[in-house]
Amino acid sequence: MTSAPMETIIEKGRLIDPIAGLDGRFDIGIRDGKIAAVEPSLKQHPALNRIDATDRLVIPGMIDTHAHVYQHVTGKFGLEPDLVGVRSGVTTLIDQGGPSCMTFGGFRRFIAEPSASRVLAYISSYLVGGMEGHLYPDLYGPTGVNVEHTTRIALENLDLVKGVKAHAEIGGQSRWGLEVIKLGQEIATAIDLPLYIHLGQLWPTDASGMIPDPEELMRTLVPVMKPGDVLAHPFTRHPGGFVSATGEVHPILLEAVNNLGILVDVGHGSHFSFDAARRALDAGIMPYTLGADMHGYNVSVPDAGGAGDDKVREENPFFGVAPFNLTIAMTELLHLGVPLAQVVAMVSANPATLLKMDNQIGTLALGFEADISVLKLETGRFQLSDNTGAVVTSEQLLRPDFCLRAGIRFDADSVFIPDAIAA
Ligand SMILES: [Zn+2]
Repeated sequence: MTSAPMETIIEKGRLIDPIAGLDGRFDIGIRDGKIAAVEPSLKQHPALNRIDATDRLVIPGMIDTHAHVYQHVTGKFGLEPDLVGVRSGVTTLIDQGGPSCMTFGGFRRFIAEPSASRVLAYISSYLVGGMEGHLYPDLYGPTGVNVEHTTRIALENLDLVKGVKAHAEIGGQSRWGLEVIKLGQEIATAIDLPLYIHLGQLWPTDASGMIPDPEELMRTLVPVMKPGDVLAHPFTRHPGGFVSATGEVHPILLEAVNNLGILVDVGHGSHFSFDAARRALDAGIMPYTLGADMHGYNVSVPDAGGAGDDKVREENPFFGVAPFNLTIAMTELLHLGVPLAQVVAMVSANPATLLKMDNQIGTLALGFEADISVLKLETGRFQLSDNTGAVVTSEQLLRPDFCLRAGIRFDADSVFIPDAIAA
């Protein structure tokens, strides 16, 4: 360590870095936008700027594996990237299936490049991308997929494309079976990246009135998946998810997660249910990553504007009123008994590995870009709720304070950070 002054020293915080195996009081020094020192004390070291992080958690910059930030192109669905990202304490966002082969240029130019947050994407399997939150099922059948075109665009944009998004759910199954998943897997295999699969009903079933059998969906789905693929929404209350109508985790999925190398992302959204979460965790389904899945239908967008917007939002199957964001999702896992270091890994080390970017992000290693999240871990009695009407009292509450993205500070002032609710 040279004695040249640090740009910033964050001092006296409780630093948790699962990859480095650190959980304790450390100071962290930043120079040239990079992490230059992690020491028990940098008190003697000169610095242009010192930030007191007493009573704060200092963790690797948080990575939200399930964002929807293709603003203006995905209708009311896409949120402003930095409100979900750096202004919510989150340094890296993965847009989950917003941009497609036809719209990827706009995603790069108008979302990824101008955002202060690091914005990456799982490219949509579908030609149209994640338009309007998939309100129109007819656009999402096999005829709406072009493997060759999507593969080519993904390969040309591998700096941003980190996987492929598709849906396995009973509404689509009732129309087309799981053909779309097979096509999505062809794309993912061709580009050697994970396929991220939405599980849990999204569309109404087709007009025949036949309700497909979720077991049949799982039996068809699992053999199509490869190790390292991701199943999303383990805690959903919607039918056709991890937890069956009788309250058990589908054994086929348990086997896939425990023995076939299939990963699980929380993909919180409005369909998160404490009951389903408890059942899935008790059965041994431990999420690997912790995507928040915030979008224009499940959070309250202050400037939605336009007559009838609220009605359009309320009619969406993913409309919800229970307030959430990434740190609320983390708080819920703490409440459900998952240790803090493991919850931190779900938003740092694990997603960095999933992205094949663990040589750049996800830990506070010397020389890495200084992506650092600073959180408040408040204690007391806080009310948490889900959209089934369940209300629980948590004795802890995580809230973002600020973050550094490549050494630049952003305060957590986003309108999407829910207020603490006293129980
Ligand atoms: Zn989503």
